[in-house]
Amino acid sequence: MRRHSYVWTISLPYLAIFLLALLGISLFLSGYFQSFFETNWQRNLTDQANLYTRLAAPIVRAGPPYTGVNEVLASAAGTSGYEVTLLLPDGTIIGDNLGSQAARSTLLGDPEVTAAISGGKGADIRTDAVTGQRTLYVAVPILSSRQPIAEIRVAASLASLDSTIQKARLILLIFSASALILIILLGLFYARRKENPLVLLTETVKGINRGERKNIQLSQRGDEIGTLAEAFFDFTDRMNLQIADLTNERMKLAAILTNMTDGAILVNSEGVVTLINPAARHLFKYFDNLATTPRTLIEVVRAHEIVNIWNLCQHSNHQQTAAFETPVDREYLQVIGTQLKPSLPEFTLLLFQNLTTQRKLETVRRDFVSNVSHELRTPLASLKALTETLQEGALSDPPAAQRFLSQMDDEIDNLTQMVQELLELSRIESGKVPLQKKLVSPSQVVEPAVQRMSLQAQRSNLNLSFDCPPDLPQIEVDSSRLQQVLVNLIHNAIKFTLPGGSILVSAQLDAQRIIFSVKDTGIGIPPDDLSRIFERFYKADRARSSGGTGLGLSISRHLVEAHSGRIWAVSRPDEGSTFSFSIPLPRS
Ligand code: ADP
Repeated sequence: MRRHSYVWTISLPYLAIFLLALLGISLFLSGYFQSFFETNWQRNLTDQANLYTRLAAPIVRAGPPYTGVNEVLASAAGTSGYEVTLLLPDGTIIGDNLGSQAARSTLLGDPEVTAAISGGKGADIRTDAVTGQRTLYVAVPILSSRQPIAEIRVAASLASLDSTIQKARLILLIFSASALILIILLGLFYARRKENPLVLLTETVKGINRGERKNIQLSQRGDEIGTLAEAFFDFTDRMNLQIADLTNERMKLAAILTNMTDGAILVNSEGVVTLINPAARHLFKYFDNLATTPRTLIEVVRAHEIVNIWNLCQHSNHQQTAAFETPVDREYLQVIGTQLKPSLPEFTLLLFQNLTTQRKLETVRRDFVSNVSHELRTPLASLKALTETLQEGALSDPPAAQRFLSQMDDEIDNLTQMVQELLELSRIESGKVPLQKKLVSPSQVVEPAVQRMSLQAQRSNLNLSFDCPPDLPQIEVDSSRLQQVLVNLIHNAIKFTLPGGSILVSAQLDAQRIIFSVKDTGIGIPPDDLSRIFERFYKADRARSSGGTGLGLSISRHLVEAHSGRIWAVSRPDEGSTFSFSIPLPRS
């Protein structure tokens, strides 16, 4: 019943009106019938009484002793069941069809009798004192010279009329009750029927909630339900459009947040993180689900500098910026805090930029400038010193002048080599060096390079050897460029290995690549320098005096990478270094 309460809410007033109408009609009908029948009876009874007066009039006019009056009245009344009484105006009963005049004391005082005595016709309905039944009394005068000389009173029991009316009422009641039950049953049936527009509308709305299609037919009905359905469908259409728009906007924002390289964290006024994008998660190594376990800013970022920025944002209307280094990973971060006023004043957006790479590049650039100046200044300073010595008189000493000139020549060679290497590096870096790739065996790269450097190694009292199996698969490379890489590495090994040491050049197969290595027993490289030696001009401090340009390894790295390879170094100070590079085998 609860399910259709709305139907019942609508139906109940109608039901009440129907009930009232039914009750009214029943009451009216039963009243109407009663008075109709009673009037009819009264009319009939009056007619009968008139008839009796005509029969009794001669007897009354004959005067006492009124012989045979009872019989006349009895035969006139027949089997009608009426009591017919003849009485004089003084109330004396002179005849009765039932012969019961002795039982009657007096009829004077009865309203119908009083009316008849005064010459009119009287009628009354009341309960008979003797029979105890509702009875209709009619009295009609017998006139002589327009004067009542007697009157006939007829009494008819209304018991049969009352029982008929009672039956009629019962039938009416049964009819009304049946109609009511029928209407309730019809209502129930209709309320439950699928075609019921309210049920249909409810089902359609439920269906739409479940994502089903709307019932167009419903909106095409011409009635109020149709209008309601149409308005509802319009509303859902508009809602759907708005939801689609919002979803679209949300997806765009989510895509931006997800793909942003900068970290983003949204913090509420209580310091709880409400949103964190993947870049920020990665930056702070925080991968827990914030929806299930809410976390404060400090719990997520574990850096007081960031919390300070958030605090500053809370108390100021301006953007706050700070840069700091993370303690563990030593990442250099810049954080920008913005209070999201006016739209979301209780939220602060923290953006994180990882400036580690830029900072490194900045350092490299600074080092590069300082190294170039340093590298240029040394030969220029010695050139200056040599020319000054010559000017100050050494020219007059030919053997000394000759020596100085040869030193000057060496310095100029150094400068030329540095400039050449710089040019070479910038050409390789900008991809202007075309590679002449051919299929060669690794030994065709290793052997010529070792041969070129063997004299130099001998001079430095170093044992230079190589290990390159002849059956290694061929590689497709620019062999002169790869030899240049190996020569650079061997040259460094010679420079940084003390006399008596040894250098081993090798090539071996590893998965789908050939790995070339130059292993020395030299001075090694401190761990801090190891990661930076492939940068331009970078030199470990201990190598500062070695006279190199710091460009060799940088050039080597670029050449290896141009062959889709990789270069790396493993080293321990005072134990030696191994420089390796890999070249992928050609795809068969
Ligand atoms: P250069 O040798 O001209 O200084 P490189 O780029 O070839 O420049 O080398 C850069 C730095 O790497 C060197 O200055 C040196 O500190 C270090 N290095 C390179 N090879 C070796 C090696 N075999 N042993 C020790 N240190 C090395």
